[in-house]
Amino acid sequence: MTPSKRFQGNAAELEYLLLTPWQRFKLWLFGQIYIGHKQQSGWTKSQPHYLRRCGKHGFYITHPHGWHHDLYGCEQCRRVALEALKRRTL
Ligand SMILES: [Zn+2]
Repeated sequence: MTPSKRFQGNAAELEYLLLTPWQRFKLWLFGQIYIGHKQQSGWTKSQPHYLRRCGKHGFYITHPHGWHHDLYGCEQCRRVALEALKRRTL
């Protein structure tokens, strides 16, 4: 593959490209789709990962966090909200 044709997007966009049409339909219908168990460095075991779509920032990957295993929303939205909170503009 030539450098000019190399994929330029992020990991979430790549995951989307790998989805089948049926999986893309389920993502559209349910707002998220399971993309497999993955283990990140420092983890004792793998966790289920999900692909979601943010209306502002596009696709992102999330996994269960904390004791309640909540799935976090879009990290960029969270960052914007935190910055606004720091500036006290909320
Ligand atoms: Zn977002």
